[in-house]
Amino acid sequence: MLAAGARTEKHGAARPPGRAGMVESARHGAAPGEESMSHRGSWDEYFMRIAEEVSSRATCDRKHVGAVIVRDKSILATGYNGSIRGLPHCDEDGHLMEDGHCVRTIHAEANAIIQAARNGVRIEGATVYVTASPCWGCFKMIANAGLSRIVFGEFYRDPRIFRFAEQLGIALSPLHAEGAPAPPDAGGAPAPAE
Ligand SMILES: [Zn+2]
Ligand SMILES: [Zn+2]
Repeated sequence: MLAAGARTEKHGAARPPGRAGMVESARHGAAPGEESMSHRGSWDEYFMRIAEEVSSRATCDRKHVGAVIVRDKSILATGYNGSIRGLPHCDEDGHLMEDGHCVRTIHAEANAIIQAARNGVRIEGATVYVTASPCWGCFKMIANAGLSRIVFGEFYRDPRIFRFAEQLGIALSPLHAEGAPAPPDAGGAPAPAE
C-alpha cells in the first residue's frame, strides 16, 4: 500500500499551485486560532524546513546540506554532509580538495541512505527532501535505493539529474523552504501524497 501511494506521486501531472486559493479561503474563512493550511504550510514545506535544520549539523563549511527521507508523512532517516565517522572534520583538518570540490565529506543524501541501512529501515518508494539538488553520485544512489521522489531546495551543479529522473520515473522538483512556488519548467510540481 505504501508503494501504491508512491506510484501515484510519481507521475504527478503539474497541477496548478493551489496556494493562492488556500490563502484566499483562509483569509475569509478561518476564525482566529483556527488551523489553516496557509498557517501550517504544506507537508513538502514542513519536511524541507526539517531538512534545513538538519543541514545545520553539516561539517564542511563550503556547503551545508541536509536530507530527510520520508514516507507516509513519517521521517525514516536524516543525513547531513560530514566526514567519515570518527575522522576529523574539515574545520579541524582543512578541506580535502579535488577538482575544485571538497571530497572529505559523505553527502547528506548518502548519509541518510546509510543511516537507514544501519538501522535496517526500508526506504523504497520514499521521498527524499534535500536542501540542495543531488550531485551525480548521490543521484545514482537515490535511484538504486528505490526512492521515488526528490524534492530539493536550491539547484546544485548537475543538470543531468533532470533527464535521468524523467527516464527513471523519479519525480524531481524544486521547493524553497519558504514555500515559494516552484519554477514551472523544472520537472513540474507533483501532487501531494494525500
Ligand atoms: Zn570540506
Ligand atoms: Zn552528493
